[in-house]
Amino acid sequence: MKITSLETFVLHVPVTSGGVADALHTLTHWGVPGVIIHTDAGIDGYGYLGTHAHLASDRLICRWIEECYAPLLVGEDPRDVQALWTKLFRHPPLQWVGRAGVSHLALGAVDIALWDIKAKAAGEPLWQLLGGKAEKTLTAYNTDGGWLNFSLDQLLADTRESVEGRGFKAVKIKVGHENPSTDLRRLEAVRRALGPEIRIMTDANGRWDLPTATRFGLGARDLDLVWFEEPIWYDDVEGHRRLAEKIPIPVALGEQLYTAEHFAAFVARDAVHYLQPDVTRLAGVTEFWRVAELGHAHRLPVVAHAGDMMHVHLHLSVAHPAIHWLEYIPWLLPVFEEPAEVRDGVMVVPQKPGAGSTVRSDAMERYRVA
Ligand code: MG
Repeated sequence: MKITSLETFVLHVPVTSGGVADALHTLTHWGVPGVIIHTDAGIDGYGYLGTHAHLASDRLICRWIEECYAPLLVGEDPRDVQALWTKLFRHPPLQWVGRAGVSHLALGAVDIALWDIKAKAAGEPLWQLLGGKAEKTLTAYNTDGGWLNFSLDQLLADTRESVEGRGFKAVKIKVGHENPSTDLRRLEAVRRALGPEIRIMTDANGRWDLPTATRFGLGARDLDLVWFEEPIWYDDVEGHRRLAEKIPIPVALGEQLYTAEHFAAFVARDAVHYLQPDVTRLAGVTEFWRVAELGHAHRLPVVAHAGDMMHVHLHLSVAHPAIHWLEYIPWLLPVFEEPAEVRDGVMVVPQKPGAGSTVRSDAMERYRVA
C-alpha cells in the first residue's frame, strides 16, 4: 500500500453549551484542523487535533502538513507508522525548526491518520489492533460542565443533572478564581449536594502560583477530591514537586506537555500522580503510548486529556492497561462517523475499523472553514 496524497481541512464546531469558560479562556467553538491521507488501496486515513478555533493558527498547522510532511510521505507505505513518525520527527531541517508547537500538533494529526489507515487495513478498531479487549470498563467523568462562568446555582443544577439526570459517577469542576476561597466554597456546596459517593475532580488550568495552589490544596483536604489538575504553570517540575509534597490531594497534569521526556521529568521528581497525555499534543498515538507505558511502569494512573473530544482517546483508553477513566466531552459528536457514547457512566466500546477519526461528509460541509 502506498500513500498517494494528503488533503487538509479546518472545521470550527460550536461548543454544546453555547460558550464556556475555564480559568484562562472563554470558548464558543472547538477548532479541528485535520488531514486525510489518501492511499492507492482506496483506504483514507483521518487525523486531526483540537484547538480554540483560531483560524490563522489552524491554517498554519495545515500548511505545515502540506508543505513539510506531505513530500516526505507520498510513496511510503502508511502502515510503517513507527518508522514514518521517526522520519518526520527527526528530519534534520524540520527538527531544527520545531520540536514542539505547531509542527508537533501537525505531526500528531498525521500520526493519527496513519494509525487510522493501519487499523482500517486490518479491519479492526484501533483498540483491537493495539491489543485491547472489548470487555474493558472505562468509566466516564463529565467535563462538559462545572465551568467557571457558572453561578453557584448554575453549578449545582449542572452537576446534579450530570449525576441524577445523566448517570455520571464522576464530574470535573473548574477552579481558578482570584481568591481560592471562592472555589472552596463552591466545591463545598457541590460536595454537599452530590453526597460522598460521587467522584469530583478539579482543574485550575495552570492559572495559580505556588502559594495560591497550596492554599487551595490544603483548604480542600476534606472534600475528597480525586485530583487537582494543572495547579500551576505547566512546565514547572520543581514547583509541582513542592506542591505535591505539601497538599493531601493528588496532582494531575500533562495536557500541555509535548513529549514523553517531559512526562518522565515529572515522574522522576514525584511531581505528578495522574498522567494526562493528549494524543493531539503528543504528536500522535506513537508518543501517547510511550507516556502510558511510563505511567504503567511506575504504577501511576493514566487518564487521557481529551483534546480530540475523546474519539481517538476512546480507542487508546480501551487498549491501555494503565487507563480506567475517560474524560467525557461531547463537542464533536456530530462530526464523526461513530460518535462516542456513554451509558450509565461507562463508555461504550467502539466497533468500526479505524481510529474513530473519520469525519462524516455532511459535517465536513457544515463546519468547514478552510
Ligand atoms: Mg485540563
